[in-house]
Amino acid sequence: MTSTPRNQGDVLSLEKVSKAYGPVQAVVDFSLALAPGEIMALVGPSGCGKSTVLRLIAGLERPDRGRIRFGEWVVADPNTGVWVPPEKRRVGLMFQEYALFPHMTVAQNVAFGLMKWPREEREKRVQEMLELVHLAHLAHRYPHELSGGEQQRVALARALAPNPQVLLLDEPFSNLDPGLREQVRSEIRELLRRLGITTLFVTHDQEEALFMGDRVAVMHAGRLEQVGTPEEVFHRPETRFVAEFFGPTAFIAGRVTVRGLETELGFLPQRVPLPEGTRVEVLVRPDDLRVEPDEAGSGHIVQRVFQGMHHLYHVRLPSGRIVHVMSEHAASYPLQSRVRVVLDPGHDLSCFLEGRRVVEEPAVATASMPA
Ligand code: ADP
Repeated sequence: MTSTPRNQGDVLSLEKVSKAYGPVQAVVDFSLALAPGEIMALVGPSGCGKSTVLRLIAGLERPDRGRIRFGEWVVADPNTGVWVPPEKRRVGLMFQEYALFPHMTVAQNVAFGLMKWPREEREKRVQEMLELVHLAHLAHRYPHELSGGEQQRVALARALAPNPQVLLLDEPFSNLDPGLREQVRSEIRELLRRLGITTLFVTHDQEEALFMGDRVAVMHAGRLEQVGTPEEVFHRPETRFVAEFFGPTAFIAGRVTVRGLETELGFLPQRVPLPEGTRVEVLVRPDDLRVEPDEAGSGHIVQRVFQGMHHLYHVRLPSGRIVHVMSEHAASYPLQSRVRVVLDPGHDLSCFLEGRRVVEEPAVATASMPA
């Protein structure tokens, strides 16, 4: 597991935080730190503990172990008994279940967290926030008179109004239909960037995490598996779980030799710092492969999924292993036809030993499976 070492300038940090609900270990030894202005996407399958992490940060749950800080300020530490209640933590929340209040206008919704502010300042702030999300002209509407995207922007304005030091977003776009979701998330990302607000963004959607996050933290069964830039977690996953989480993936058998890797799809001139003969698994994504029709080929097309821009073929290799191969949409091969699978990644492939990535060598690899 990787965890982020704590830096002096971190706005938010969790240090080995654990939380159980009875027998369920929802969050285990979880460490993560956010730099000022960073958007961190926390991603993982449903039930892996993402919302619990947000609730712990917001102060809606108490950790069993570990420490949570905002900068140098410790807000939760069961060891010393420190506990700062949610309303004192200055976090902005935009949770799925925190929908807008239906009986309040847009302006009243945004003013909700500002009730202790003097009236004049409050009105000025509401106006400022509505202008920020381009909704000043709808201040007197009610939520049911707004589109889904407009409602999201009001919810964001409401979360930002009290000037939080950290913004926590939990699946904020899950109720929007796909077309609108893309547009709203671009707008919101742009806005968060512009404001430079430190944000922890929870989603179960891997594409959304790669799009939204300056860094992406991948969670699995209560634990942090890896944290890194979108490119790092996608191209250099540290565990099999992370590799498989970001889309169709196959692991083909490989054997280390002094010159490179022997695989069932041919030879890869990629050095692996392991003893000769070590058996590894090589991570192969659909765009690392191509198929060529070949009656003597040893691959069999067992499934074909037309995805518009391309076809995704599922090809059975002689070992019985199935690989996914992306192919341009114009090239259409029938089911059960025989093909030659060519491994042509154009970049180094990750190797795994006992489920963990072992190597990364800068070599351009090209190989083809013997027919
Ligand atoms: P995610 O947000 O990744 O879907 P959650 O943090 O909501 O996951 O849940 C993590 C685990 O903790 C799940 O197994 C869930 O059922 C359990 N859990 C969450 N909240 C509670 C609760 N209040 N009581 C009991 N179990 C809970």
